[in-house]
Amino acid sequence: MNTIFHYDHYWKYDEMKQNLSALQKANSSLCSIETICVTEEGRSVFAVTLTNTKTGSAMNKPALYIDANTHAGEVTGSMAALHAIDYLLANYKSDPAITKLLDTETVYVIPRISPDGAEKYLTSPYMLRSVNRVYNEVKGGMEEKDLDDDGVIRMMRIQTPYGAWKKDGDSLILRSPDDTEGTFFDVFPEGMLTDYDGSENLKQAKPAWGLDFNRNYPFGWFPDSRQPGAGKYPLSNPENKAVVDFVLAHPNIGGVSTNHTSGGVILYPPGTAKASSAPKNDIDTFIAIGNMAKEEMGYEPINIFDSFMDDQVNYDSGAFDDWCYQTQGIPAFTVELWDLANRAGVPIIWNMHSSETPATAIKRFNACMEWVKKNAPQYWMDWQLFNHPQFGEVEIGGFNSKYTMQNPPENFLLQECEKMTNFMIRFAKAMPHLSVDQIIARKESSGVYKITAIVGNLGYLPTNLSDEAVKLKVNHPVMVTLNGAEPISGKKEEYAGDLSGYSRTETGIHYYGNIATPACAPAKKKITWIVKADPGTEITISASQEKSGCDSKTIKID
Ligand SMILES: [Zn+2]
Repeated sequence: MNTIFHYDHYWKYDEMKQNLSALQKANSSLCSIETICVTEEGRSVFAVTLTNTKTGSAMNKPALYIDANTHAGEVTGSMAALHAIDYLLANYKSDPAITKLLDTETVYVIPRISPDGAEKYLTSPYMLRSVNRVYNEVKGGMEEKDLDDDGVIRMMRIQTPYGAWKKDGDSLILRSPDDTEGTFFDVFPEGMLTDYDGSENLKQAKPAWGLDFNRNYPFGWFPDSRQPGAGKYPLSNPENKAVVDFVLAHPNIGGVSTNHTSGGVILYPPGTAKASSAPKNDIDTFIAIGNMAKEEMGYEPINIFDSFMDDQVNYDSGAFDDWCYQTQGIPAFTVELWDLANRAGVPIIWNMHSSETPATAIKRFNACMEWVKKNAPQYWMDWQLFNHPQFGEVEIGGFNSKYTMQNPPENFLLQECEKMTNFMIRFAKAMPHLSVDQIIARKESSGVYKITAIVGNLGYLPTNLSDEAVKLKVNHPVMVTLNGAEPISGKKEEYAGDLSGYSRTETGIHYYGNIATPACAPAKKKITWIVKADPGTEITISASQEKSGCDSKTIKID
């Protein structure tokens, strides 16, 4: 897949900014960039608009929305979003499908929601959830620190007769109930005890940078006591507010993909209730679009609540995909890119994940360790003795989980980006598209004509996007406008309601064995007017709806 830039390393902020600016300058009629938020450290959260402005303004076309880096360390998602921008621009004109896409649709991309968090992740040894703003007061315990100064916080094992682990080659296994003889360990991330309360029993300190942007959206929000990192109140983070304001300011958005890393799984709402509680049509749509994602990426589409959530009573929510679907009716997917466990041969079975035994998790860890040693040895370090100022002799070792577990090693990054871009292009094609199919003028009497227009939705998704949107009353009817003559009956502006796309057509195998369409979806609507007009008059019928673009046709009365 041709692109201008190379996707063989993770771009820091300055490189991202420079490359986006270069893409925009070289494609000024296809690409515009705005800053939707300036972060505490002075970085821009960029929103990129891609469409051919010569064929109509961005807002007058159906739109797909992509974002990434809600979580600081999930930089693969960000690189995939940047790849999509680059690929669409680099292949406009040379690829007819991309040309059609940008001529008839808009793609919005917010490639890095948390530029401060991502920068900290890419330039320091630290792991963090969304952003490096102090949120939790650290109240003692083991705080992460790169003790041996190799730029990575690895595992640190401390020998103790109370330990729950014992050595197993390069790895560790759980001590069995009858293990009374031997050498045992506790394992922490490399670190130091600070402000320790003096307890004999060590514990990990709560991370100071615990804010989780994907718990801060205003649907199903719960406070920090239930879901750590939730923030003070919904949209208390300026980055979250900027994202929501952007979506609300672009009512043409008809599909959402929020890129995360990792796990190799495609998540779809609802996330706060069983899939069976949502309208069946919507779940069918999620599965059909999710299956396209699976074809491109090999990752399974699953419902968040039924198959991803470990705790279905005190579940986590306040997530972006749920806000999109459950308040705006927009089909939204969270894509968890990169799946080391699968490559290592011990995949996570998501709908059985919560009942998995510790032994399976350790088996998976070991398989991942072996994969890293073989495929990314630069990110592996054998156990080394280290003289810890507080514990004496300890051992430090293991992999750099940033570019193995959480994100692919650089030479595997391009594959993830390309898979994701291929899915994005297919998802964009599923948007509703209005069409004025036919106009017929029939003479009723001298100077009086009956005008009939057939207006339809040629897309897969309905103009209302989802049945949930109808329940939420956020669906807006298709408006059909007559211009060029005065109506005697009918109004200049008529409403055609919601027009189904072909996703709602009944399909199946007929009772007698043939393929059949028992009933077409209500994708078309006939509108009639009686108008006063003279022969030679030109009459134009236009159809428009915020999610579905616009179209018009003109006839001359004879
Ligand atoms: Zn994430």
